[in-house]
Amino acid sequence: MTPAHILRDRTLRRFAVFLALIAAALPAAALAFSLLAQRTAQAMLLERDGAVASALLAQGMAENDIAAALAASEVSGAGRALLARIGRTAATPGLLLPELAGYRQAVLPAALAAAGLLAALLLGGALVFARAQAARLAGAERLLHRYAEGDFSARLPRDAEGPLGSLFAAAEELATMLQAKTEAEHRARQFLKQTIADISHQLKTPLAALGLYQEIIAAEPDNADAVRAFAGKAGDALLRMESLIQAMLKITRLDAGSIRFAPAACPLPDLAGRAVRDLLTRAEREGKRIQLEGDPALTLWCDPDWTAEALGNLVKNGLDHTAAGGLVQVTWRHTPGMVQVQVADNGSGIAPEDIHHIFKRFYRGRSGPDARGAGLGLPLARAIVEGQGGAVTVQSTPGQGSVFAVSFPDGPDGLTEL
Ligand code: ADP
Repeated sequence: MTPAHILRDRTLRRFAVFLALIAAALPAAALAFSLLAQRTAQAMLLERDGAVASALLAQGMAENDIAAALAASEVSGAGRALLARIGRTAATPGLLLPELAGYRQAVLPAALAAAGLLAALLLGGALVFARAQAARLAGAERLLHRYAEGDFSARLPRDAEGPLGSLFAAAEELATMLQAKTEAEHRARQFLKQTIADISHQLKTPLAALGLYQEIIAAEPDNADAVRAFAGKAGDALLRMESLIQAMLKITRLDAGSIRFAPAACPLPDLAGRAVRDLLTRAEREGKRIQLEGDPALTLWCDPDWTAEALGNLVKNGLDHTAAGGLVQVTWRHTPGMVQVQVADNGSGIAPEDIHHIFKRFYRGRSGPDARGAGLGLPLARAIVEGQGGAVTVQSTPGQGSVFAVSFPDGPDGLTEL
C-alpha cells in the first residue's frame, strides 16, 4: 500500500494536512523561542556587566578602561588563569546560580507553554480524526448488519477512497454477491412452488378421468365393449400424463440448470432428419408433407439430442396446425456469425392476441385445433435453444402460416462449414 493510496482517504488526508501545518509551524516556534532566549540572556549579561562596571568604578578605575574591558572579546591565558585562581570555572559549584535561575525562570514558562500547546494540538487533532474515522466505520458496520439481515436498500458510500474506500468496495462486492445469492434462492423457491403447482394442476384432470374410467370398468366388468372403450381411454390418459410429466421434468431440469449440454459439430441434414424422423409416418397418414432444405455441408455447433428434440417440437406444431395437404418446411442457412434453422408451415397461423404468449408454460392458443397439446412444446424448445446460447423467434400471418426461426451463434473459432 503506497502513501499515495493511503492519502486518498479524505479523513487521513485532512489529518496529514493538519500534521504538515504543525510541522511547518515548528521552525517558527523554535525561532520565536530562540529570540526570547536571546533577549533574556542579553538582559542577564547586561546585569552582570552592570555589576562588574559598578564594582570597578567604586575601586576608582577609569571609565575608559572599564568600557574597554567590557567591550573586550578575546580571552587570554592570563585572564583564564586569574579566573581559575579566584574560583570561577565551569566546575565551580553554584557559580552564577542566581543569574541562571533567573534565566531559567524567564524561559521555562514559554517552553512549557509551547510544548503544551503542541501536545494539545496533536492530541486534539488525533482525537478529531479518530472520531471522524470511528463514525464512518460505525456507519459502515450498521449497514453491514442490514446486509446480513437481507436489507440491501442502502449502500456503503461510493466516494470513499484510499484504504477505507478499498475496504468499502470489497464489502460492497460481497454484498452484491450476497444479494444475487439471496435473489437466486428466492427465485428458486418461487420456481419450485410454481412448478409443483403447475404439475399438480395439470395432473388433476387426467387423474380424475382415470379414476372415472376405472369406476366404469369396475362397475361393468362383463360389458366387453365398455371395458375395451374405457381401457383405451385410460391408456390415452396415461400416455398423456406420461408425456406431460416427461416434458415438465425436462423443462424444470433445464430451467434449474441441472442439464449439461454436450455440444458437437452436427451436420444439419442429419440434425433435421433426426428432428422429423418420428413425425414422417404421422405426416403421411394425415396427408401432409415435410420438406428439408439447405446447404448439405452446413454444420451446427449444438447438443444433437436436445436440439433435435426442440426442432421436432416445432415441426410437430407445424403438423398440428396445418390441414391435410399442408406443408412443413425445415430450412437452414448460414448468416454472418450464426446459423439459422427455420421451421415454416402454411397452416392456420397464430392469432395476434396469442403470439406474445405462446412461449409461456401451459399456454395454448384459443383457436388451435389440437386438443391434445399441453402447452409445453414451445417453452421446452425455447429452454433447450436458449440453454445453448441460441434464440427462438416467430413470425406468423393468421390464415397463411407461421415461421419459427432458431438461431445459434457460430461454433468455436467460427467454424461452421464442414
Ligand atoms: P401445444 O402445441 O402443446 O399446445 P406449444 O407450447 O407447442 O403447446 O404451443 C403453444 C401454442 O402456440 C399452441 O397451442 C398454438 O396455439 C400455438 N402454436 C404453436 N405453433 C404453432 C403453429 N405452427 N401454428 C399455429 N399455432 C401454433
